[in-house]
Amino acid sequence: METINKPKTTIVIFGVTGDLAKRKLFPSIYNLFKKGLLSENFAVVGVARRPWTNEILRSNVCEAVKNEVDPDAGELEGFCSHFHYLPFDVSREESFDELNSLIGDLEEKHSIPGNRIFYMAMAPQFFGTIASSLKSRGLTETEGWSRLVIEKPFGHNLPSAKELNEQIREAFNEDQIYRIDHYLGKEMVQNIEVIRFANAMFEPLWNNRYISNIQITSSESLGVEDRGGYYDTSGALRDMVQNHMLQMVSLLAMDPPIRLTTEEIRSEKIKVLRAMRKVSSDEVEDYFVRGQYGPGEIKGKEVPGYRSENNINPDSQTETFVAGKLMIDNHRWAGVPFYIRTGKRMAVKSTKIVIQFKELPMNIYETKNSDTHPNLLVIHIQPDEGITLLLNSKKNDSSGGTAPVHLHFSNNSVNTVNTPEAYERLLHDCMLGDATNFTHWDEVDLSWAFIDTISEYWENSKEELPNYSSGTMGPEESDELLKKDGFHWWPLNEDGE
Ligand code: NAD
Repeated sequence: METINKPKTTIVIFGVTGDLAKRKLFPSIYNLFKKGLLSENFAVVGVARRPWTNEILRSNVCEAVKNEVDPDAGELEGFCSHFHYLPFDVSREESFDELNSLIGDLEEKHSIPGNRIFYMAMAPQFFGTIASSLKSRGLTETEGWSRLVIEKPFGHNLPSAKELNEQIREAFNEDQIYRIDHYLGKEMVQNIEVIRFANAMFEPLWNNRYISNIQITSSESLGVEDRGGYYDTSGALRDMVQNHMLQMVSLLAMDPPIRLTTEEIRSEKIKVLRAMRKVSSDEVEDYFVRGQYGPGEIKGKEVPGYRSENNINPDSQTETFVAGKLMIDNHRWAGVPFYIRTGKRMAVKSTKIVIQFKELPMNIYETKNSDTHPNLLVIHIQPDEGITLLLNSKKNDSSGGTAPVHLHFSNNSVNTVNTPEAYERLLHDCMLGDATNFTHWDEVDLSWAFIDTISEYWENSKEELPNYSSGTMGPEESDELLKKDGFHWWPLNEDGE
């Protein structure tokens, strides 16, 4: 039992000197260790170009863990001693032989039966080469299992994603490939299925008879920070919509799976992506809005526009904001718009889903002294985690009117301390061989096919950018998108933004 829940594993991190390893992977591995979810027989091998030593890596791991979590000082040194460093050049085949021999030694030392996770925390252009060399140099031929964890971006359009997929599929089977979408590791994203399928009161209403529209926002108040080089070639559509936003849409729109297995859940999610209405080039402007932030003010502080940020082309046409209307042409959702919106340098930092229910066929309170509000179910993903249900109740006076009331559950007040970070959960799932919260190739394929028409249209059209000021909720066209359907974005905070 012990080994089933805590498989003895070696984790190899490609790009161990990078930002992702420092901010997310080291703290997540430590938390798994601290919670007893990691076998004592584990090793982490970090590889990167720099001429580091085991000691340098270990002191970086300790530092990173201290920065992100509150470690147990007595345990930390023992934890860090499981980390090993190998200077590495991905283009040298000999590097892979040295790696294989180091992993072999560690497996012997820690009695690890050849279970290996290869985590790609490097620039995506190396993913394919690394996967091929892992196979050709025999690193995947062990008595245990080998799994490949791939970070985003998985390609920058459908042809490049296909090419990458073909490359890695030569070395790994689909069921050995774990494509990370860290939104799928978030507590409240995982909770979408539970809210929907474990409550008798929502599922009967979860369709076009009772829901008028669904709004998904993932807004940031930060700008591109130091990711300019990558972001300017990507933009919000590729960086956020192709993966995270469409994953949330599929979880909200899918039919109940017959069982809670990876295959059944994925198959329902894939059906949603297949039912998503394709937007042709001449329809892009009817369904999608792009924006780029100009200078403005965030929390009383002046901030520069996108084009003045580091490593950004001063004439950049890259979008830092996307709003879109998605239609899912199936029996359940015909006629219900799913509005999505994501951007940088917006007024609030928030990821929220608002499900707006239809009005009653005849509201007998309409004429009274009433403030009748459509029923809303709000799922707060981050930074707050929780659920709000907005109902109408009697006004607390003798007018006979109504007033909205909020039934609110906040996860933060219950168990934030123990809520695992997305990466922690996903790493653990990978160790256990549970791929449910990773992206299957079919999902990647369908979402790029949907996105590509829009990005190609935008590449060839020259709009006036920037078109929204930092510290706002995006360009006016984003509001127009909903207004023409008779809706508006529900505010994300108490200031009405
Ligand atoms: P980074 O630039 O900070 O680190 C890259 C790492 O790769 C470094 O350790 C570097 O030494 C190593 N490297 C580069 N070229 C190499 C070579 N030829 N041989 C050996 N090692 C080499 O990048 P990052 O921010 O850590 O991101 C890594 C991956 O994770 C990228 O694919 C990125 O898109 C993805 N990602 C990062 C984040 C994040 O929060 N940083 C979030 C989501 C996805």
